[in-house]
Amino acid sequence: MRVHVADHPLIAHKLTALRDENTDSPTFRRLADELVTLLAYEATRDVRVQPVEIKTPVAATTGIRLSQPKPLVVPILRAGLGMLDGMVRLLPTAEVGFLGMVRDEETLKATTYANRLPDDLSGRQCYLLDPMLATGGTLAAAIHFLVDRGADDITAICLLSAPEGVARLESELAGLDVPISVVTGAMDERLNEQGYIVPGLGDAGDRLYGVV
Ligand code: URA
Repeated sequence: MRVHVADHPLIAHKLTALRDENTDSPTFRRLADELVTLLAYEATRDVRVQPVEIKTPVAATTGIRLSQPKPLVVPILRAGLGMLDGMVRLLPTAEVGFLGMVRDEETLKATTYANRLPDDLSGRQCYLLDPMLATGGTLAAAIHFLVDRGADDITAICLLSAPEGVARLESELAGLDVPISVVTGAMDERLNEQGYIVPGLGDAGDRLYGVV
């Protein structure tokens, strides 16, 4: 598994504002949106392309366009929705699927409660959106879900990650014969006893959408 931690002052600057407990929901949503666009730039480095012949006003030339089948962007509900606009701004021709996963706050185990995805993901590059890679349980379950449907290249984009979550992904996904990448804005210190990332930013879903 490839893990890329963004090392960019603009990302660190925006993450600092995102973490601040005084940042209100509208500002939090705007920052999450801006951050995912910056992270998507790195996450799509290996997006599949094919050559295309075009004519400029001056000459014929060969360029590239995104290959078929189109990439699939999959926000994990609910907090991943806060990253969707920023991602499709960079990849406007991508298709979007949805995966609803919920984490039991006592066992920390992730289960799927909803999905809107093609049954057959053969040959699809998939971009999973989940702001927090904490225990890794949700992301591991989501990746298995996509691989079971045939996805053959998966990149997860996370605003923040914890080392424990990365370690769990590495061990749970070790047997998979599919390239998996994680692109994250920062690698934080650790998880606390409740499974929150430290220093983190609290509950990403609550901060995006309020406590409902
Ligand atoms: N989910 C969150 O929203 N925040 C954390 O710190 C961990 C999981």
